Amino acid sequence: MSVLDLARPEIRALEPYSSARMEAGAAAVMLNANESPWPPEGDVLGLNRYPEPQPAALRRRLAQLYEVNEDQLLIGRGSDEAIDLLVRAFCCPGTDAIAISPPTFGMYAVCAAVQGATVESIPLASNFELDPEVVLAALSPSVKLLFVCSPNNPTGGLVPLAVIEKLATALAGRALLIVDEAYIEFADAPSASSLLDQHPNLGVLRTLSKAWALAGARIGCLLADPDVIALLRRIMPPYPLPTPCVKAAMIALTTHHQSVAKRRVTHTVSERARMASALADLPGVREVYPSRANFLTVRLDQAADVCSALAGLGIVVRDVGRYPGLDSCLRLTVGSREENMRLLEALEQLAVTA
Ligand code: PMP
Repeated sequence: MSVLDLARPEIRALEPYSSARMEAGAAAVMLNANESPWPPEGDVLGLNRYPEPQPAALRRRLAQLYEVNEDQLLIGRGSDEAIDLLVRAFCCPGTDAIAISPPTFGMYAVCAAVQGATVESIPLASNFELDPEVVLAALSPSVKLLFVCSPNNPTGGLVPLAVIEKLATALAGRALLIVDEAYIEFADAPSASSLLDQHPNLGVLRTLSKAWALAGARIGCLLADPDVIALLRRIMPPYPLPTPCVKAAMIALTTHHQSVAKRRVTHTVSERARMASALADLPGVREVYPSRANFLTVRLDQAADVCSALAGLGIVVRDVGRYPGLDSCLRLTVGSREENMRLLEALEQLAVTA
């Protein structure tokens, strides 16, 4: 059985749009895409031309970075786009489902709702760990995609590779397992991408938005079986990656910028530890959840009031109290040392005046 047997038959049968840039690359005289022959004044990027659908140089660089083959990699507008493409390619509206383990990242359920796919929720255990036996026992046969977020947003916990492997093995021929590793750089843990070659039903989401400081460039990847990558390319818009964003990503991935990014990750990880103990000592803070990501989720008295009082002081944090199991919780991104100090001072001030 091929992993593509799990995809929607109409998507497999689809005759994809073939763009000018797919049919022919650059040439001396380019008259095949109805572009302007003139770049905008002052432009140095060649913005009068459509970009390559999957820019070869960036693809090469990202495949090296994530230690996969180029045909195992799809670059999209953030990993958000890959989530959407997966749901659209694998879930038939009205009949198929995705599965998630709340509290977790909200986009999986939103993409499913847009597609008309059902969402099966199998909550994490009370300590926010994911028990593979519980998940596997609860999945219905309609589930085509199981999303596992590791480290999990918003709880910060890491799912061990042994659990990922167990899930991928059990779901072979039944469903795809998509491991969202948006925050893995802050976890100092191995990526599930090392399991891709043995598990064609596994996909891994990576992004340049967090550790690589490029949230504004919207560059994210799906690492998966080449057949899955080729299938998603069929339903992707023809020119998804804007030239300035590709350029920004190429710069971010140069040796110099890579070492800057690594230093910043180390700094964030040490600030995370410092903040976790400082927060735990504040009056009104009931629990600081252990985190392997670049944020801390904290349970505290009057969380919603604290959140709006902080906003009044010019500090925005995320109220995650609406997530199951996270009532009275705020999610605090670990910022620069100065930003973290401002947050701590503000929380101390609020505790004194409460
Ligand atoms: N996955 C998780 C777990 C996230 O928290 C986010 C962003 N908050 C994303 C994916 C999407 O990231 P992007 O589209 O910027 O790559």
